Amino acid sequence: MHELSLCENLIEQLEELADEASATMVGRVDLKIGVLSGVEPQLMATAFGMAQEGTIAENAALFIEVTEPVIQCHDCDQESEVSPQNLLCPHCGSESTALVKGHELILARVELLGSRRDARG
Ligand SMILES: [Zn+2]
Repeated sequence: MHELSLCENLIEQLEELADEASATMVGRVDLKIGVLSGVEPQLMATAFGMAQEGTIAENAALFIEVTEPVIQCHDCDQESEVSPQNLLCPHCGSESTALVKGHELILARVELLGSRRDARG
């Protein structure tokens, strides 16, 4: 499963972030997944549940926001949100468009909890 290796990378990132912040736990993770990224949000959630076991993110809640595709038209220069099945420019009908959003997998927000520094020290 493609999503599992993505989650393993994600956990590594979280461990690094937590380490830098001297945090002991990850409380919450927000991901943005583009509908054209090739990542299944449902599979990602399942894979995260498997990957987080025994890590700093063991108790982290995962939130996934699915982002719709946004294209920029090369002919009329407009940016538009479109459906994944139809990447034509809705303004002028041009096929000459570039995907500016919707293919990404972004770690949007991480909530870190706790501190390794002792309260007394
Ligand atoms: Zn256009």
